[in-house]
Amino acid sequence: MAFELPKLEYSYDALEPYIDARTMEIHHTKHHNGYTTKLNAAIEGTNLAGQSIEDILGNLDMNNSAVRNNGGGFYNHGLYWDVMNPNDKGRLSGDCRDAVEKAFGSYEGFKDAFSKAAGTRFGSGWAWLCVQNGGEVEVCSTPNQDNPLMPGVGCGGTPILGIDVWEHAYYLNYQNRRPDYIEAFMKIINWNEVERRYELSR
Ligand code: MN
Repeated sequence: MAFELPKLEYSYDALEPYIDARTMEIHHTKHHNGYTTKLNAAIEGTNLAGQSIEDILGNLDMNNSAVRNNGGGFYNHGLYWDVMNPNDKGRLSGDCRDAVEKAFGSYEGFKDAFSKAAGTRFGSGWAWLCVQNGGEVEVCSTPNQDNPLMPGVGCGGTPILGIDVWEHAYYLNYQNRRPDYIEAFMKIINWNEVERRYELSR
């Protein structure tokens, strides 16, 4: 069973004015679709075919650049669409909130750490909020399409929130103003989904 490009649960214009429709459409139908197609080509006929994406990335041979780049791209974008929400964004709450406050002192402390990780990632990559086995949360960033599920990458936890800081994620609307895009992203986080992933992964 090949991987399929996931459908978005909202329309391409649903995140405006924070993320514009044209960026969303190109990002989903071109970039994410490309990673999906190339991942399927890379694993076809190998022992990776039929495994879950989490298993593929967790046991990844980091020298396998086709699976590393396209498997990462497939997984990362699926998470990214899910942790944004135009309507019912919810609020950071429950055990996830407790873990964030323990790690960063407050929501503002978390926001500063996450924004800094996203803003200082040189070139293309991602910033993450991850949960470790004991339930502690950490912020890290990774280059290209790497993510912390991969062996030895980032903080090594399970990502529960991620922001794409490749220029293709924001350039049409924000040009070089990555900090403005990061600030906008913080306003459209689907905290209900982050919390759901926290409870699943802790
Ligand atoms: Mn992207």
